[in-house]
Amino acid sequence: MTASTAPLGVLAIDGPAGAGKSTVSQRVAAALGVTMLDTGAMYRAITLACLRARVAPADAAACAEIAARVTIDLEAGRTRLDGDDVSEEIRGREVTMAVSEVSAHPGVRRRLVEHQRRWASHRDGCVVEGRDIGTVVFPDARLKVFLVASARERAERRFREETEAGRAVDLDDLIADIDRRDRLDSTRAVSPLIAADDAVVVDTTRRTIDAVVAEIVDLYRSAGGAP
Ligand code: C5P
Repeated sequence: MTASTAPLGVLAIDGPAGAGKSTVSQRVAAALGVTMLDTGAMYRAITLACLRARVAPADAAACAEIAARVTIDLEAGRTRLDGDDVSEEIRGREVTMAVSEVSAHPGVRRRLVEHQRRWASHRDGCVVEGRDIGTVVFPDARLKVFLVASARERAERRFREETEAGRAVDLDDLIADIDRRDRLDSTRAVSPLIAADDAVVVDTTRRTIDAVVAEIVDLYRSAGGAP
């Protein structure tokens, strides 16, 4: 593993699916006036590229080859794959079912980790959310937060999000999907989902988003994070 080129101001937010990372990260970034990088969207975009190319998610070499070939842009809250806006498509069931398998391939991760470090190196202060941000991508981040919540609450949150987005879902399917992805993400050989030793674990169960955001903003400022 090469040394991270992170600027001092990286705020890493990791945690399992549905712990509230996306909402909390967006709100923390807005409160601090910095940009945010959703690394899950990058893994999802690579997964979509693999599916479009009819590459099997288990095929490590072919997935890595796709990851090396495609261009992913995350600007203004939209995700573009080779220039095509795929923001909605990457949230669909097909991608969600395949993403943990594609993300487990070292070649895929290497490519995206490089991309994430390059992205942050142009910024003075940023929020980066994912699964391995504090452990692998930016081990010298200014602040590392590991968000957790009970499995049931995580599934219920996903249920509300999906229903509001007009997608029909079943709560039991969501619980099963969260369990399955937690298991795959936590047990993979490369960059498993795990809290960094120096991460602050924040449990969001039965807490309001405002309270969680305020706590993280305070932690970042106390750690000397800009601005
Ligand atoms: O955050 P989100 O649920 O969109 O992430 C989708 C999937 O991408 C995760 O379940 C995980 O398999 C993968 N991922 C990852 N490393 C990251 C971010 C996401 O492996 N830093």
